Amino acid sequence: MQYISTRGGISPISFTEAVMMGLAEDGGLLLPRTIPRIGSETFASWQGLSYPELAFEVMSRFIDDIPNSDLRELINRSYATFEHPEVTPLIHHGNLHILELFHGPTFAFKDVALQFLGNLFEYLLKKNNAVMNIIGATSGDTGSAAIYGVRGKEKINIFILHPHKRVSPIQELQMTTVTDSNVFNIAISGTFDDGQAIVKAIFNDIDFKKQYSLGAINSINWARILAQVVYYIHSCLHIQRHEHDKAMDFAVPTGNFGDIFAGYIAKRMLPEGTIRKLLLASNTNDILTRFVAHGDYSLGTVVATSSPSMDIQAASNFERYLYYLLDENPTRTQEAMNQFAETGRLDLASSCDQIKRDFIATAASEDEVLSTIQAFYKEHGYILDPHTAVGVHAALIHQQEGIPVVCLSTAHPAKFGETVEKAIGIPPQMPPALAALAGKPSRCELMDADRKLIQDFIRQHGLHA
Ligand SMILES: *Cc1c(COP(=O)(O)O)cnc(C)c1O
Repeated sequence: MQYISTRGGISPISFTEAVMMGLAEDGGLLLPRTIPRIGSETFASWQGLSYPELAFEVMSRFIDDIPNSDLRELINRSYATFEHPEVTPLIHHGNLHILELFHGPTFAFKDVALQFLGNLFEYLLKKNNAVMNIIGATSGDTGSAAIYGVRGKEKINIFILHPHKRVSPIQELQMTTVTDSNVFNIAISGTFDDGQAIVKAIFNDIDFKKQYSLGAINSINWARILAQVVYYIHSCLHIQRHEHDKAMDFAVPTGNFGDIFAGYIAKRMLPEGTIRKLLLASNTNDILTRFVAHGDYSLGTVVATSSPSMDIQAASNFERYLYYLLDENPTRTQEAMNQFAETGRLDLASSCDQIKRDFIATAASEDEVLSTIQAFYKEHGYILDPHTAVGVHAALIHQQEGIPVVCLSTAHPAKFGETVEKAIGIPPQMPPALAALAGKPSRCELMDADRKLIQDFIRQHGLHA
């Protein structure tokens, strides 16, 4: 399988080149040249595969430059760190099926992709006798999942900036108690935006970027999307185990459009009608809901909510879907993205019919998030985290008689205990591994939000080729 850029400015590259490139060199996003189709017979033959076996079947259709035995080994190792034997189990509550994606080491769904990406980076770097210094800014969740993805790995150091005392105590502990020698937590005195601006500026210092082989770990990496396609297909097989050929919907709490884009890929791979609709769920930051409803993709200001991992306006993966919406035309995609960069808005009203063939969208207000957590707990005795509740809210509004809805559960409720307690009056039970963090030794540098200082720190502690 070869990979191309949404903006058409690079010649086709291999899977491993796409993984190492991250963002395409022409500023676009990388996509497989074609989306492989899975016939009904093949699909039926996957019934009964374990999660890692299925992951191999799905991923190997997009990867032809890693030997099968190595790919199997990478996949097995990535999902052995999950606490549940099914890796991503489905919990049935009537017509709604909660897809628990939080059984990895940091109790959030980003582990599904980052456990794999960490192993993949290590494998590729060893093979090419190269090193990588990963640098990123986090507002909480992504940082810890990235750190757990690469802790203790050879040939990779990771530097994660978080805003000092502006992440939750649990999130801070999850990051700073990882004391492996290749992990560097930097608490900057400033905001998340300050951290992100510093990271951006460092990546734009091309000499420095080259000299230190800087790597990014954000959700634009194709390997992250690919790893997420697997659990959609896993859920379809699970639902169809009892009811063959049953169509189903997926409700997806959405921020950067990464997770739901993986659902879009799964929808196009599977036999027609397996996935009926993708229910796009956003919080008060509703740019994507407006896009689906009216073709209006226009920036608002970011508002802080109880589902902070979805407090995003410009969604970094949106361009991938836009490319398909514009008939896989890189020139039109480039023009649209230029226009968006200049004006902060795109009018895609003429594409509304096509958008609505794939998506239905709903935004949840803060009150609706709380009342969804409360009502679901009352009815089922099951506790939703606020991100999952945004998705369940959409599912409850749009569910149709006889069509199961799989609701992606993206975080363990104990990670957002304050909101949960506000909704149901009691705090969610803390998993022992999270509770144990408080007593562990920790390591973190406190630094001014000054790009020069951070770069000096990387010079001092970075790996050299
Ligand atoms: C990152 C994240 C999301 C949003 O996922 P996207 O791929 O950005 O749409 C939702 N919930 C949680 C808990 C997350 O960490």
